[in-house]
Amino acid sequence: MKKLTEMRPEEFSGLSYPCRCGRNHQVGIKKIRVGSGCLSELPQIVRELTEGPVYMLADTFTFEAAAREAGELLSQAGIPFHGRRFDTETPLVPDERTLGGALADLEPEDKLIVAVGSGTLNDTARFLSSRTGVPYMVVCTAPSMDGYASTVCPLILGGQKVTKPGVYPQAILADTRVLKEAPMPMLTAGFGDIIGKYTALADWRLSQVINGEYYCEECAELMARAVEKCAENAAGLRAREEGAVQSVTEALVLAGVAMGMVGNSRPASGAEHHFSHYWEVDALARGESHPLHGNSVGVGAVLSASLYQLAGSRLPQGFALPDKERILSCLKAAGAPSGPEELGIRRDLFYESLLHAMEIRDRFTILRFLAGEGLLGGCAAELANRFYGGKE
Ligand SMILES: [Zn+2]
Ligand SMILES: [Zn+2]
Repeated sequence: MKKLTEMRPEEFSGLSYPCRCGRNHQVGIKKIRVGSGCLSELPQIVRELTEGPVYMLADTFTFEAAAREAGELLSQAGIPFHGRRFDTETPLVPDERTLGGALADLEPEDKLIVAVGSGTLNDTARFLSSRTGVPYMVVCTAPSMDGYASTVCPLILGGQKVTKPGVYPQAILADTRVLKEAPMPMLTAGFGDIIGKYTALADWRLSQVINGEYYCEECAELMARAVEKCAENAAGLRAREEGAVQSVTEALVLAGVAMGMVGNSRPASGAEHHFSHYWEVDALARGESHPLHGNSVGVGAVLSASLYQLAGSRLPQGFALPDKERILSCLKAAGAPSGPEELGIRRDLFYESLLHAMEIRDRFTILRFLAGEGLLGGCAAELANRFYGGKE
């Protein structure tokens, strides 16, 4: 059997892999396709899953990007479908209104939900699918986040960010010809989410060394290689080169797959995500808009890597630090935000998040390590000075 690191994203569909880590890794997604022009395979993929009817979800943006063409392809193939198009002046949010709207048009005879979109529409379809039992698949329109192959739904309910359990999509179809035309902030957001894996993987390893937490070498290596490929193509992403877009999309899909194989988000999420989450919750509480998840995660990775540097010799002997300079230079080359001021983070929020982001969940990261060493306060003041100048 091939090692995980030798497999192409397509080969992960339906995988059952007895791993050296002692677990049997399984992937419940039946079909994964990432490539140029693969939208044309939609009717074939739908047929493998169902005879229809298909219920398609799109919004104003994603209709133009791919849903119109998807509908034409289904019509030509004689697959019955109907859809709901959310008309949005501003980006769609996965809240009660969106969930209710999506449910309202689902018909009793519908056999498959097809989300044409990225974060919000995918999360909406996943929630709907898990509660109604109607399977769903996703046609990706932006390589903006790693939630495509995930099983949880981050939603905004009552103005609060909550995560609800959901299900895997049956299929992921990502046409790089479509994805490369996504708005630039969405391209850089996906890139930031991927660059964040450098520090996420370091946190996972740190917890293994210090706490003996379960760790899978192969899953970590799989993720690390996908990240490295994106880093090498950073400048190409800015130029919307299809190869660079493909690397990011594959890495985003693999991140979801790796989380599923491991059974938690360790391969993809560490302290950098806790920062992002903390800032997002603060913006929501103030009724303010916030940067795209991945753009915050990229900045979070710079902070997390800086904290690793500050921890220095206190870390276990021989521990390989995430390369802060590499993270910074990749984000810059891709045109992604690389410092908190670019995200509009206020100094007080920045300082507070360094001290309290770790309370978001019970997970050992560089933040908890520094707190345990009694160093976190000093590091927070140091970084606040570094990024904002002056004394805290
Ligand atoms: Zn394993
Ligand atoms: Zn993320």
